[in-house]
Amino acid sequence: MFEWSETHLMLRDAVRSFCEAEIEPRLDELEHGDTPPYEVLRKFLKTFGVDEMARQNFVRTLEREDAPGGQDSEAPPSQEPSPEQMAQRVDAAAMRSIPIIELSRYCPGMVTAMGVSIGLTGSAIMSRGTRAQKERWALPVLTMEKIGAWAITEPNSGSDAFGGMKSTCKRDGEGGYILNGNKTFITNGPYAETIVFICKLDEAGVESRQRKILSFVLDSGMEGLTQSKPFKKMGIHSSPTGELFLQDVRVGPERLLGETENATARSGAKSTFSAERSGVVTMALGIVDRCMELSLSYAKQRVQFGQPIGQFQLIQLKLAQMEVARVNLQNMVFRNIEMTAAGRSLSLAEASAMKLYAAKAALDVAMEAVQIHGGNGYMTEYRVEQLARDAKILQIYGGTDEIQVSQVARDLLSRAG
Ligand SMILES: Cc1cc2nc3c(=O)[nH]c(=O)nc-3n(C[C@H](O)[C@H](O)[C@H](O)COP(=O)(O)OP(=O)(O)OC[C@H]3O[C@@H](n4cnc5c(N)ncnc54)[C@H](O)[C@@H]3O)c2cc1C
Repeated sequence: MFEWSETHLMLRDAVRSFCEAEIEPRLDELEHGDTPPYEVLRKFLKTFGVDEMARQNFVRTLEREDAPGGQDSEAPPSQEPSPEQMAQRVDAAAMRSIPIIELSRYCPGMVTAMGVSIGLTGSAIMSRGTRAQKERWALPVLTMEKIGAWAITEPNSGSDAFGGMKSTCKRDGEGGYILNGNKTFITNGPYAETIVFICKLDEAGVESRQRKILSFVLDSGMEGLTQSKPFKKMGIHSSPTGELFLQDVRVGPERLLGETENATARSGAKSTFSAERSGVVTMALGIVDRCMELSLSYAKQRVQFGQPIGQFQLIQLKLAQMEVARVNLQNMVFRNIEMTAAGRSLSLAEASAMKLYAAKAALDVAMEAVQIHGGNGYMTEYRVEQLARDAKILQIYGGTDEIQVSQVARDLLSRAG
């Protein structure tokens, strides 16, 4: 049975102190002052040595790949781990989850900006790139020296990302390509220095839905690439979101991920979706934990009708439901940690079921936290309104609630006798 260890709790306290000292006082600036989150995030990575760990991990991964019978960084370990190895892996997975939970308690947008840069962009290059591509583009993104963006969504293709995709690449001369298309809702899009651009190979005679999906790595400032200003939006203001416009962007073969047309983005999509969904569960735990903490404190000190509002059964019901959500989410995070440590990944259906639950739980809890705070809850100063606006995104990105429902149901139906 997994529980947070003393070491995990020490890390949790240290990250919480960082958030209280470095993020909480700047929340208004990050949320409403159009200040990008990257400097604070870099300070966070440096303070906890995460950038250095990423660098060391990168070197180890390349060494493993170079070894005879080189192992892919994402391949499951071939042998059962010893209890010591298992404990180390559990620690590593827990240490990755705790910062996500803690940052989400204050600023889920910062987790989104960091997660898309390191988790989606960095991982896409690490899982399908050549060694040269990893060294050139993945390492600076993994350490957050550079900001990454991962661009699949388009104005007319969101949930049906591959099917409706209009962005194209066309073969051009000596192994090069010409890229065209518009991407929207791209996290870090306005500021990204390294962009994974996903598009369809324009091949005569191949029907649109059957075309190969290829990924290219782009640098900001390339001719024909325009990055929009950040959109104004409902929540996660500390995560800049924007559009990308590509008009006849000419690239050499070294920018095609994997340098082969056979490394299609479809093959990497399943693990990307599962990882994204697990990340949402971890974020939801942070949001719920903080909303509950603020609500409990308020329910004890706010007096109406001569008694603290926490004495009213209707308020108690809300608090109890928050605890149910917190316990469920924590168990899901623990399961993710144990599965990762065992070198196994959740099935897409299980990851989808968890994401579906987590997003709704986070939104419900955050809205009830606003309710417990009454009029104060509607005011920015009490912070629960920010968390409520932020929580809504969990039902939209990484696949909407409706898409999770269909993934779960499709899996159930495929198993039914
Ligand atoms: C803040 C933010 C950050 C984002 N970051 C990124 C990013 O970094 N990179 C990136 O590529 N994308 C990103 N996205 C895009 C995100 O993944 C999409 O918005 C999401 O997948 C939904 O697509 P859509 O907005 O086009 O909605 P649509 O697909 O148009 O959906 C509209 C509605 O129809 C429903 N619907 C669609 N299909 C079905 C169906 N088959 N059955 C039932 N209901 C259905 C949806 O659930 C939804 O309720 C981001 C979005 C936001 C808002």
